[in-house]
Amino acid sequence: MQTSVTPTHCPYCALQCGMNLTPVPDGDGGSVVEVTERADFPVNRGALCGKGRTAPALLSSRVRLTSPLIRRDGELRPAGWDEALDRIAEGLSRTRTEHGPDACGVFGGGGLTNEKAYTLGKFARVALGTSQIDYNGRFCMSSAAAGGIKAFGLDRGLPFPLEDIPRTGCVVLVGSNLAETMPPALRYLTELKENGGTLIVIDPRRTRTAEQADLHLAPRPGTDLALALGLLHLVVAEGRTDEAYIQERTSGWEEARAAAMAHWPEYVERITGVSVPQLRETVRMFCEPESAMVLTARGPEQQSKGTDTVGAWINLCLATGRAGRPFSGYGCLTGQGNGQGGREHGQKADQLPGYRKLDDPAARRHVAEVWGVDPDSLPGPGRSAYELLDAMGTDIRSLLVMASNPVVSAPRAAHVEERLRSLDFLAVADVVLSETAALADVVLPVTQWAEETGTTTNLEGRVLLRKQAITPPEGIRSDLYVIRELAARLGVEKGFPTDPEEVFEELRRASAGGAADYSGITYRRLAEENGVFWPCPAEEPGGPTGVAAGAGAPAGAGAGAGGVHPGTPRLFLDRFATPDGRARFVAVNHRPPAEEPDEEYPVLLTTGRVVSQYQSGAQTRRVDELNAAAPGPFVELHPRLAERLGVVEGEPLAVVSRRGRAVAPARITTAIRADTVFMPFHWPGEGRANTLTNPALDPVSRMPEFKACAVRVERVAGRGGR
Ligand code: SF4
Repeated sequence: MQTSVTPTHCPYCALQCGMNLTPVPDGDGGSVVEVTERADFPVNRGALCGKGRTAPALLSSRVRLTSPLIRRDGELRPAGWDEALDRIAEGLSRTRTEHGPDACGVFGGGGLTNEKAYTLGKFARVALGTSQIDYNGRFCMSSAAAGGIKAFGLDRGLPFPLEDIPRTGCVVLVGSNLAETMPPALRYLTELKENGGTLIVIDPRRTRTAEQADLHLAPRPGTDLALALGLLHLVVAEGRTDEAYIQERTSGWEEARAAAMAHWPEYVERITGVSVPQLRETVRMFCEPESAMVLTARGPEQQSKGTDTVGAWINLCLATGRAGRPFSGYGCLTGQGNGQGGREHGQKADQLPGYRKLDDPAARRHVAEVWGVDPDSLPGPGRSAYELLDAMGTDIRSLLVMASNPVVSAPRAAHVEERLRSLDFLAVADVVLSETAALADVVLPVTQWAEETGTTTNLEGRVLLRKQAITPPEGIRSDLYVIRELAARLGVEKGFPTDPEEVFEELRRASAGGAADYSGITYRRLAEENGVFWPCPAEEPGGPTGVAAGAGAPAGAGAGAGGVHPGTPRLFLDRFATPDGRARFVAVNHRPPAEEPDEEYPVLLTTGRVVSQYQSGAQTRRVDELNAAAPGPFVELHPRLAERLGVVEGEPLAVVSRRGRAVAPARITTAIRADTVFMPFHWPGEGRANTLTNPALDPVSRMPEFKACAVRVERVAGRGGR
């Protein structure tokens, strides 16, 4: 057991708050870790939410898996590691022999460290030979990533550090409830206001974050694209464009302008429900200060037009000269702990490490050389997350899942659950027996954050070192061990180290010269510095890799001593990462959600999170303190809708969509639009919100439409209803 204080980071969301862990005796001869404040980490300056504070509870063997499990006679029963690994290799091999390598699927998670995400992508393509790998981060930030790449040539959640937020003039927060998803980040908005800046929150609900706003707009779910277009229309009509900036730093303005001009404010008011005076006030607040930011999150992104919606908000920034300038810009608030890094290093269906494209011959050559394989042996791009899950039981016959719980988190979840049951073989590596693991043929118990070392990349693009603080319990192995052992059993003995630093050294080489270049980052630097922002090439900008300049590194970024690149906290200050250095406007037009309310399903459902649970809840639902604070799902509805239905507070309500039915108690509040109901998505079973959600996909990002679908709300006969 280590005895000293270990500075590390929270296992949950993309803020990756710093914390100290100290082992203390547990009174039974063992030890537990205590979380204490780590004030030196600038992102959270010591503050933690309840999830971070209680994270050590999950290290206890009382709530976690401590032995591999194999299904025998229909039941999952304890087994030895060799037997369990043999069974997985056997299941995958049989599928590969009988149906070809692409019948084997791999499904990763946005919580995996960079080292694990990198190794999982390499395992799929080199050891298994399948193109069918994707991860649950697809459900998180893929629309913002696609929109950012289209406009700027590069996707990094925030192109500036969080510390810039209080220094801007106005923040427009679109579809983010920071007060519940990342409470310590709320202070950046408080400081913004203390400095005289203003906050506009756009959300169909008057959330705790919206309560902090100077102006709250509550559009109908699924209409953020129209809203952004209407604002751009007014910017043009009121002569608030920055023509010199448009000329010097952008392309495609005329087409984008023409599209926006078709969206008259009165038309936008009819679509969104946001009044013309509110639209005008938004434009005034956004345009009057010298600098401003737009920050989007899952609200506008988790739509079947999420990429276009992000593009429309970026257009607004570009037209007003508010991107690639100090304290101005567009950013996405990534959600999952390593949602950013997880998408940069190869577990996404179309990508190779370093944010390289799998269909780019030069990228394939570079990565194949690092991996010591023939570039032609690398499979091409595979299916996106929902498409992969939907193909289970037909084209996909066996699946390996790491750190993901799609039974709760995927859209149309009852269908996904049924598809999982139809697989020939399912293996899951996780910390707990999640709802997905409970369906598996083999389950492997793996180490978690405090028991292992690895890097993550937070929402700012800051690469961080999470250090091991304690020894894992007997019987538990790391994901890297699992991958190495499976690769060996599939005939690939070399190339899958289990030491995270050794993996990171290889990742550095694989990412060198890519958009997300980590080649100048080392464990030593990460231990000494409070994270390093990518791109961080091994040489100074202009050196052999020449990447930082192409990615928009700021002037003077190469001023590090002795040729050490300092990292790139602020992107695009000199140029954007497009071939001509200009940001690209995208011409986009409003279109409705894939499902509009009708007579049978007259209400809109939107989904989201609550402060005391995290994602599918597999971890946080096992923490007593968090369960006490957020014990179960609910249906939030407006008093007018409640009155129409004759519903009282707390009464069980059935919410029915074309995909299924969920039941949860009514929570009546004026904080939501009367045409909309809200459900949090953290719970399985009867109250599972994702039973209802619509898997209609964005054509570019392949993001499902979690944020808007048509439902009807009913009282439940015999349970408070008539
Ligand atoms: Fe952990 Fe996120 Fe809470 Fe910070 S805000 S303590 S990173 S869950």
